[in-house]
Amino acid sequence: MNTKAVSSLQKMIDVNTPIIYISDYDFVRVDELIIQTIGKKNVYEWNPVTGGTHFVSKEKRGEESLENFLYQQYVLDAESLPECFLLLKEIDDYIDEARIKSMLLHIAQRRLYDKAFNTTIIIVSTKIKVPQEIEKYVSFLDIDLPNEEEIVALVRKHIAINHDEGFNEEDIPKLMPSLKGLTAFEIDRTLDMAMSSNGTLRAEDTTMIFRQKKQMVRQSGILELIDANESLDDIGGMEVLKDYLLAKAKVMAHMADVGKYGVQIPKGVFIVGMPGCGKSLCAKASAAAFNAPLLKLDMGSMMGKYVGESEGNLRKAIKLAEAAAPCILWIDEIEKAFSGVGGQSNDVVTRMFGYLLGWLQDKKSSVYVIATANNADNLPPELKRKGRFDEIFCVNLPSSDEREAIFKVHLGKKGKAELVVINVDYKKLANATNGFNGADIEAVVNETVEQCFLNVLESGDNNKQITITTDRLVAEAEKTVSISKSCKEQIDKMKKVFDASNFKNASK
Ligand code: ATP
Repeated sequence: MNTKAVSSLQKMIDVNTPIIYISDYDFVRVDELIIQTIGKKNVYEWNPVTGGTHFVSKEKRGEESLENFLYQQYVLDAESLPECFLLLKEIDDYIDEARIKSMLLHIAQRRLYDKAFNTTIIIVSTKIKVPQEIEKYVSFLDIDLPNEEEIVALVRKHIAINHDEGFNEEDIPKLMPSLKGLTAFEIDRTLDMAMSSNGTLRAEDTTMIFRQKKQMVRQSGILELIDANESLDDIGGMEVLKDYLLAKAKVMAHMADVGKYGVQIPKGVFIVGMPGCGKSLCAKASAAAFNAPLLKLDMGSMMGKYVGESEGNLRKAIKLAEAAAPCILWIDEIEKAFSGVGGQSNDVVTRMFGYLLGWLQDKKSSVYVIATANNADNLPPELKRKGRFDEIFCVNLPSSDEREAIFKVHLGKKGKAELVVINVDYKKLANATNGFNGADIEAVVNETVEQCFLNVLESGDNNKQITITTDRLVAEAEKTVSISKSCKEQIDKMKKVFDASNFKNASK
């Protein structure tokens, strides 16, 4: 068991924390932590299946309902009561009930004000759900995911238990990246599956483990492991930003040497820009440039209903990313969470913001952060200041040269198809698409190719070659309502914000 978790739990107990909240789905690991920290003292467990029992002996305590379990503790005579821990597992279906909330509140307050009442509540749940009424008595405990040393130990233990004689120790470093970011329980399960396919664990199992991991990350509901097939060559224009990302990727690839030369560990980049101009594309293409997995954190969907839930989600996401390092953590739509921090926003959002900034400021790991936003208008100035991110780039609507480059990217892809010939004047295409963003251009290309295909179908000759010409594309572009027309007001406003800012231009 990780010693950091043991000492953090001990510290929380030492400072009389009334309610300790552990959000983890590896209950076996949490039990080990409790045993190592609290040992065989008075620990009583309540869970929906067994009701109240002694944590170690599993003897029934007589209380079936959570309400009764808590009540019996609350009314005990404090003078005759030794130090005691109530371990409440999976109580999120009950924690909202008025009597339960009030009982938790009373026990927490008694813990704080009655010196003789030495009862600490430990809540363990896969979810984070803390009603507002008890929030200020709760401290969250994060159990770090296994580090490299612990993963090696888990793999060796697995090999020994399964008598896997075909296993080659040299495969451990090759398996390592795919096992990082998983809990001990998940690692065990994954290794079982990998072994069951061919009877032994091998470096080749990495692909299968990675697939499995993708599912587990998705199940955690906070981060998404993105399968990105794009490369920086798939981005038309934005040369400055692409060069910048390439340089950071080189630094990250040589993290072992940065210290020797006093080079700063890259933190991340903040990309603000017009919609449909390739911000997401940059994040996806970075995965290939950095040769690292891309983990997406969607700020919009992360904001939970319960106090502590969003905060806990952010902490979990960062913990997962740290454990999966080297990786790219893509924070999408950062403005959805942090717009207006410092003004009317609530305490939770402000605290989350502080947590993210603190983490970014002190970050030593090889997690490269790419934050993207459409609107930088209402974002707190702390986020826009250098030092948090290494650089802030703004992405404007593409220039004429960039529109040419974007056409080249998308027509280049179409030209790879067997029966498609591209014969165009890129300058003319750029001139005909002033005010278009990358998404508009991509749509023009797609629509034109589809139209040509429909014509082929109509002609009845399904093996006929199609030629994509300038005229066809220009005709399609003329039918298209570009972003600068459909969202004129928003685009003009953003342009003003960028002009007045000190953000670096992604293009020049
Ligand atoms: P939003 O802010 O609306 O999420 P975004 O800036 O993240 O938009 P993307 O999702 O990256 O935009 O781009 C939308 C589509 O447009 C993508 O499918 C991408 O292929 C295409 N596109 C945008 N910009 C470029 C570009 N510079 N080069 C090539 N394709 C581009």
